[in-house]
Amino acid sequence: MKNIALLGSTGSIGQSTLSLCESHPDRFRPIAFAAGSNLDTAFAQCLRWHPQLISMATEPLAEALAQRLKAAGINDTEVLHGTAGTVRVATLPEADFVVSAIVGVAGLEATYAAVLAGKTVGLANKECLVAAGDLILAAAGAHNATLLPIDSEHNAIHQCLRGGQPNEVKQIWLTASGGPFRNTPLADFAAITPAQALKHPTWVMGQRITVDSATMLNKGLEIIEACRLFNLPPDRVRVTVHPQSTIHSLVEYIDGSILAQISVTDMRLPILYALSYPDRIASDLTFDMTALAHLDFQPPDLTRFPCLRLAYEAAAASQNHCIALNAADEIAVEAFLHNKLPFLGIPSTIEKVLALTPTGSPASIAEVLTADLQAREQARALIAN
Ligand code: NAD
Ligand code: MG
Repeated sequence: MKNIALLGSTGSIGQSTLSLCESHPDRFRPIAFAAGSNLDTAFAQCLRWHPQLISMATEPLAEALAQRLKAAGINDTEVLHGTAGTVRVATLPEADFVVSAIVGVAGLEATYAAVLAGKTVGLANKECLVAAGDLILAAAGAHNATLLPIDSEHNAIHQCLRGGQPNEVKQIWLTASGGPFRNTPLADFAAITPAQALKHPTWVMGQRITVDSATMLNKGLEIIEACRLFNLPPDRVRVTVHPQSTIHSLVEYIDGSILAQISVTDMRLPILYALSYPDRIASDLTFDMTALAHLDFQPPDLTRFPCLRLAYEAAAASQNHCIALNAADEIAVEAFLHNKLPFLGIPSTIEKVLALTPTGSPASIAEVLTADLQAREQARALIAN
């Protein structure tokens, strides 16, 4: 039995993880949750799972949840809040496995704390690897923590890398669905609405990652995530647009062999792989072979999707630029979703913030958070003007 601490329990990845706990009750038991502000879902999860601990984003939310739990006769769940609360969840001694699925840099401190505590961490939160991948990987080495990617592409690469040695890898290929605007002419990009951007053709996910998929910034973050996780330079992390999202990514070896990972378009599969690694366990996530009848691949269009170019530039520039790329995007996407910024304002805001960013590499998580805050303020100021 693995005891699971789940950061981001109320989100899309969090709920997929709990659905696996439902279908494998003999193997996985969720014992602690960190949620944001969705009180109703957090309450329902406490009723179902009776966790030892749950942390909410703020103190008022934690108080409201504690009251509802008391009224429901649940007295054995401790309710916490804020970063201190998420860190407690991430470092709970009884937890064998931490799922990192808070969205954005809000998940960084807890993820880092889990690594320092030597936990096995299933990483969905790509933003923490983009902002602080070097520090997280160094800490994982020093504290014997295991990092297992849940992001589907990196999970696919992790699986394909079991087919050879690191020095036999020529390059890796991340597949991208291309998002809802894969075939949209550039002239129509200015009028794209939040409702259109939130309609992803192949995946159902949280709002930020869905908009990031529409701009392809998501693939840009994934390039940096892959560089960190697999210790590769950006020019050996390639992107191919594959609209069917059937092949989740590929590893090209020096002898010319390419290994691909194929499975259903369902995040429960990469989560299950991480939870059960190094074993594989039976599941009902069966792939329909007829889906292989039609597989398309095309190079990404960096003119219509400048976010991808900006990510390669940030990856080549410095760690500060990677932090700024993510922070500026987080602010720009929020503004876009509130109709305060046009769709094309997302890449232009990021590009301007990157131009203001000094080359450098933070030496601590505190310095990462300072650089992150600075880039956010720059993005806010640019959007306000
Ligand atoms: P989501 O928006 O559905 O869920 C985010 C979760 O984070 C929620 O539980 C929310 O309550 C919590 N949260 C937000 N702010 C918080 C805070 N300040 N404190 C504590 N909790 C907070 O997002 P998602 O789609 O589940 O994505 C989560 C992460 O996984 C993201 O980093 C995303 O890039 C990554 N990811 C998601 C998918 C997917 O299919 N959904 C695939 C690959 C990677
Ligand atoms: Mg992905």
